Amino acid sequence: MGKLKKWFTVGLVFVLAAALMAGCGKSKTTSSSDPVQQIKKRGKVVVGVKYDTYLFGYKDPKTGKVEGFDVDIAKAISKKIFGDKVKVQLKEVTSKTRIPMLQNGDVDMVVATMTITPDRKKVVDFSDVYFDAGQSLLVKKGSKIKSVKDLTKGTKVLTVKGATSGDNVKKAAPDTQVLEYENYQEAFTALKSGKGDALTTDNSILYGMAAQDPNYQVVGGTFTNEPYGIAMKKGNTKLVKAVNKALKELKDSGEYDKIKNKWIKEQ
Ligand code: GLU
Repeated sequence: MGKLKKWFTVGLVFVLAAALMAGCGKSKTTSSSDPVQQIKKRGKVVVGVKYDTYLFGYKDPKTGKVEGFDVDIAKAISKKIFGDKVKVQLKEVTSKTRIPMLQNGDVDMVVATMTITPDRKKVVDFSDVYFDAGQSLLVKKGSKIKSVKDLTKGTKVLTVKGATSGDNVKKAAPDTQVLEYENYQEAFTALKSGKGDALTTDNSILYGMAAQDPNYQVVGGTFTNEPYGIAMKKGNTKLVKAVNKALKELKDSGEYDKIKNKWIKEQ
């Protein structure tokens, strides 16, 4: 009798485990097989954008509005894929939080000055390139630092966590000290209060900072290539295809150029 009971229990555990696995498998396929339909059904698409990056994704403290090139691209793409009935909900991401937020399902896509890199491609999917940036330096006007070559021993360079910029500058200027902040507005405030000699990230972002404060300028040209892609959860192939199709249509129709010219004056 005891033996029978034991086998019964083992069998029950086995059946339960199998059922659980089948259930998980099922929900996973649904979420990755047709995210476009899922979003349509839900009636809203959640897009991760920056709130700290002037000209790309920036929350204006006066109006509370989130605006920029990435925001307009996100809205234009969403409209092309899902039409007017699906609402676009913007959610704040930072360089550090954007990948975990995609993986947790907090956002459907990320349009946030994000470089396509081989490492990131292992954990998320990217659209085709929609913007080309390159890393550079921002300094106070009159600074002795004119290019990455001047970042020698004893200099301090500021950037943010989760960006490609920290690793890139360590390679280009191995002797400089790198300090990483939570977001770009914090890093810029730190530069202004003298916590570093330069701030480094993409030229596109640095031009935005220089536009916010004319005492600062971008110097030395670019020392990396930073091709931006729209990131999606790994395996969401249908959504990636839809985003690429929408991007192409925006480029072909001239709408992409209109959006770009609205926000980006220098490159
Ligand atoms: N494009 C670079 C990156 O993806 C720097 C800009 C950013 O932090 O978003 O890391």
